[in-house]
Order: sequence, then C-alpha cells, then structure tokens
Amino acid sequence: MKAVFVNTPGGVDQLQYADLPKPTPAKGQALVKIAVSGVNFIDVYFRTGLYKADAPIGLGMEAAGVVEAVGEGVTEVKPGDRVAYAMARGSYAEYAVVPSWQLVPIPEGLDFESAAATMLQGMTAHYLTHSTWPLKAAETCLVHAAAGGVGLLLVQIAKMLGAKVIATVGSDEKAELAKAHGADLTVVYTREDFQQAAREFTGGKGVDVVYDSVGASTFMKSLDSLRPRGLMVTFGNASGPVPEIAPLVLNQKGSLFLTRPTLAHYAATRDELLWRSGDLFRWLGEGKLKLRIEHKYPLASAAKAHTDLESRKTTGKLLLLVD
Ligand code: NDP
Repeated sequence: MKAVFVNTPGGVDQLQYADLPKPTPAKGQALVKIAVSGVNFIDVYFRTGLYKADAPIGLGMEAAGVVEAVGEGVTEVKPGDRVAYAMARGSYAEYAVVPSWQLVPIPEGLDFESAAATMLQGMTAHYLTHSTWPLKAAETCLVHAAAGGVGLLLVQIAKMLGAKVIATVGSDEKAELAKAHGADLTVVYTREDFQQAAREFTGGKGVDVVYDSVGASTFMKSLDSLRPRGLMVTFGNASGPVPEIAPLVLNQKGSLFLTRPTLAHYAATRDELLWRSGDLFRWLGEGKLKLRIEHKYPLASAAKAHTDLESRKTTGKLLLLVD
C-alpha cells in the first residue's frame, strides 16, 4: 500500500511517499481502508522530531474510511462500517490498523471529508471548552490562531456556550474569517498588542481563560492577559515549544492556573470519545457548527500540505484525499 512516512525526522524533504506492507489487524484492532486523512499540526511535530517515535514514522493521526477487517475480540465495529477516528498514528496511508475502541460510526448523510475534518480538531475544541475549562456564558476567552483548524471550531463552540471570544490571527483576511465565525474582537497579533487588547476588552480585569496553541511566541503575554486565578491552557507549539518557567511566576501574575493538555487524555475512554464526537456530529447536522475545508491535496502531496500549514498560509482544515 502507498503511505507517507519519515525515516529520519526533519524538513518536508524527509517525507517519503512509498510502498509499505499492508497491515493486519491484531487483537482489539480494525483494519480501515482510508478514504480521507486529516492534516494536523501534530503531524509536523512528528515529522520534525519534536515528538518522538520509532522509524519508519508513519504520519497522520486522523481519518475516515471503511472497516475492511477486524482482529480477534472486536465488538465495536464490523467490516463495511463507515468510521472515523483521531489520535492513532499512520493515517497518511491507504490502510491503517486502529484500536477498535477508537473508531466512531459516521452518521448517515455525513461524507468522509466532513467526518475526517471533524475528529481531531473538533474534539480538541470540545474538550478545551467543556472539560479543561468548562466555559460559562459571559466569561471571556482568548483564542490564538483563531482562523486555523482548531481555532475556527473553538471560536464557534465558545460562542455556542455564550462566552465572549477575543481572537488573535496573523492577517486581516484571517480576522475577517474569525469574525464571520463569531469572534467578538479580533486582534492581528503580528502587528497589534493582544495583551493590551484583552485588558481593554475586559475593562482592565483580564480574561478568564487563554487557549494558546501558538506556544513560544505568545506564552508570556498570554499569562499577562489573564485575570487573577484565570487559567492558561497551553496546548500547542506552532511557533515552538514554551520554555520552562518557575511556578512563582504564576503567583506573581495573579495566582494563575496552568495546564498543558493533550486530546489523548481527554478522549481516553470510548464513552468520552462518543460523547465528544457525538456532540460534534449533531451540531454539524443541526447547522450549529460549520466546517471550513479549504485545502485538499492528494496523498502524494503531503509535503505541500505541510509546507502550506507551516507557512501560515492556510485557514480551517487541510485534508489528504486517499481513495
Ligand atoms: P492551524 O490550522 O491552527 O495552523 C497553525 C496556525 O498557528 C497558523 O495558521 C498560524 O496562524 C499560527 N502560528 C502562529 N505562529 C506560527 C508559526 N511560527 N509557525 C506556524 N504557525 C504559526 O493548525 P491546527 O489547527 O492543526 O493546530 C493548531 C494548534 O493546536 C497546533 O499548535 C497544534 O499542535 C495544537 N493542537 C493541540 C492539541 C492538543 O490536544 N494539545 C490537539 C490539536 C491541535 P496565524 O497566522 O493566524 O498566527
């Protein structure tokens, strides 16, 4: 089968599009014939070596497709089922074996592209707003990279919960997009001071929570945008990993809380997975949540997708069309 992987972590030139043996499902696994694979920033981290894995490092953590075979003891799915999943690596391929408990059924009427586009970034936006900091109406959150894949979903879900959203973005076009998805205030943080904007917006108080996926370049100012006892959620490294800080800094800046979550720990059981994906699929069906699939590439062009994502050219979701 064709697959995209790296043997030596590095730049996009390290990405290989080549044949690998078609995998066989072991006990508790299903073999999925992949139709569409989602592209996520985490794929960049595995490609560059920021996140470690043994070579050959299969890329891709999200897909939609059809179950072709199941291993021993699998009860959740059967051959022929249309399924989607996230957080199992190796989806940039024609086939992948996935722990069967991680596969969710795709509702009738939802196509593979929409299902693949929903899982990883959607469940991330869901856990951040429902579990890491359950957002309440009238609270204010600061969302960085708000026109990105996670960002546009996070803005919409925060608005559904009644919160006010300050959205930072890298360009005027992205600001328009974030506004169109519900942001109350947009800040082009490449030229405007988001900390000052957040203070002004909240009458000097500071925001209740910051959802910061940008990392190194925004971290300290994000802390400075919070109200006393607010929560700093650092959940990504798009500009590089956040350097170490002393706990005393959290005291000095207002008895702040700090967390560094990952979806893997917030979609840790089948119940949790079905809850989050079920909410997302329902909101899509009801028209409450809109997906923005702007960029589609053939599997063989995964390198182009990575280049575009890393150069901040993209908005919304990027997909690799496999089938
Ligand atoms: P995005 O579509 O959001 O793309 C990344 C965006 O980050 C860019 O479009 C850009 O937006 C912004 N950015 C700021 N600085 C840089 C930089 N130096 N280089 C590149 N981009 C930069 O990607 P995803 O939606 O896939 O992921 C968003 C973030 O969320 C990533 O950091 C990812 O790791 C994280 N994530 C974390 C999860 C978790 O559970 N912890 C799960 C899923 C995603 P702009 O131009 O507007 O600044």
